[in-house]
Amino acid sequence: MTAAATSLLDAYHIKGSGLDVDNPATGTLLATVKDYSLDEISDCIAAATTAMPAWAKRTAKDRAGVLQRWYGLIMQHQEDLAQLITAECGKPLPEARGEVAYGASFVEWFAEEGKRAYGEVIPTHNPRARIVVTKQPVGVVSAITPWNFPVAMITRKAAPALAAGCPMIVKPAEATPLSALAIEALAYEAGIPEGVFKVVTSCDAAASGKLLTTHPDIRKISFTGSTAVGKILMRQAADTIKRASMELGGNAPFIVFDDADLDAAIDGAMASKYRNAGQTCVCANRFYVQEGIYDAFIEKFAEKVASLNVGNGADDDTDVGPLINPVALKKVSDLVDGAVDAGALAIVGGAPSELGGNYYTPTVLADTTPDMEISNAEIFGPVAPVFRFKGEDDVIEMANNTPYGLAAYFYARDLGRVWRVAEALEYGMVGVNEGILSTEVAPFGGVKQSGIGREGSRHGLDEYLEIKYMLMGGL
Ligand code: NAP
Repeated sequence: MTAAATSLLDAYHIKGSGLDVDNPATGTLLATVKDYSLDEISDCIAAATTAMPAWAKRTAKDRAGVLQRWYGLIMQHQEDLAQLITAECGKPLPEARGEVAYGASFVEWFAEEGKRAYGEVIPTHNPRARIVVTKQPVGVVSAITPWNFPVAMITRKAAPALAAGCPMIVKPAEATPLSALAIEALAYEAGIPEGVFKVVTSCDAAASGKLLTTHPDIRKISFTGSTAVGKILMRQAADTIKRASMELGGNAPFIVFDDADLDAAIDGAMASKYRNAGQTCVCANRFYVQEGIYDAFIEKFAEKVASLNVGNGADDDTDVGPLINPVALKKVSDLVDGAVDAGALAIVGGAPSELGGNYYTPTVLADTTPDMEISNAEIFGPVAPVFRFKGEDDVIEMANNTPYGLAAYFYARDLGRVWRVAEALEYGMVGVNEGILSTEVAPFGGVKQSGIGREGSRHGLDEYLEIKYMLMGGL
């Protein structure tokens, strides 16, 4: 680990009891950080409420300057942050470096976009009055984020909130508070006031989450995590009618038609499935391959998957790191065992890795069928179940047959089919001949039980703005 990353660990490490952070690759304790009490979190909400008017009053250009400094510092510390991410969440270092750049890109983007929170003047209904529409910050926002992108899932929320003039309090996942605390330190170094951005680490997600979704001074909750927890938070936020952005779970179909470029489809499948050991919300979860190229796809795909190196994300030659914890390992193992018992064939892998610990062998399952549990659950592991299909209508029906609607992918060359399928898929995001689609310039988000709202792009800023209509009468 870099000297700066080590000294950050030392700076946050507290003596005595608190929140223990383990390395999922080795099981060793990395640090023990502060466990905020509910009273302390309430104090942070009060501080944010106090800080709000001054922050909102600053010009967008002024806020942009501060955010640009934050962006610069995050990129300056890219390697240190990447080392922390790999240590606490397990992903290979090149992916962690990519996450830091991806996370920082939202800060840079929204620094600029905050300057364009334009209102409008609407042609009037009354000759003696004018209709003016402005946009104002929503107010104090709370955010709750997951462990799988411990930096980017914070900046994707904090950057638009801060650019819009809203203070934000973030409760990161228990497994990955270290990189969150590190970007908080960089935020303060950049000049963001303490009341305006605060990371509160907690051992009690349910209690801290309840406070952050029920406190009357919080106007909005922005959550990224599982659909099950998103439902709890929405229910809690209902009593005070808070605005809610929900980035929830997925069950992404990855469809390969007979006319696809097979090599491109396999490259896309590898990138979409095995990144972060399959632990991303947009990871391909179900592979549908048309019968004419099914065997060729399986053969080439299996060959590539078999060549992946499993190991500690800190090692240079690692392609696939550990799963986050033993519970995740058991869930993945059970899903694969259930599919194999029901008739699926493990062409590659199919069992936990010989390395032991939280490692699972990258797996390809052939002959999977829609009735198997693995086709309905979010796998969140390096496992690709491959289904065979006959025609376009069948595969669209199978792909849409899920409560989720986050990301979908398909490979085809026929232009008519490309449009028909892209429009028929009930998903917030569709990758056509592409296996990775996240970028700060495009709207990220889901439909159905995958969420509400969008992050990134100009739409991401609107999530933190209220529309105010002023009728300027008596003219
Ligand atoms: P999770 O269990 O829902 O946890 C997410 C966050 O919620 C964590 O900070 C967690 O805290 C907290 N939490 C857990 N139970 C809570 C409760 N009862 N009340 C309040 N907060 C609670 O999800 P995860 O396992 O960390 O992340 C994986 C999930 O996130 C997957 O479903 C994935 O698809 C989804 N995800 C979605 C997106 C997207 O953009 N749509 C992006 C990334 C991940 P603790 O960790 O401290 O328990």
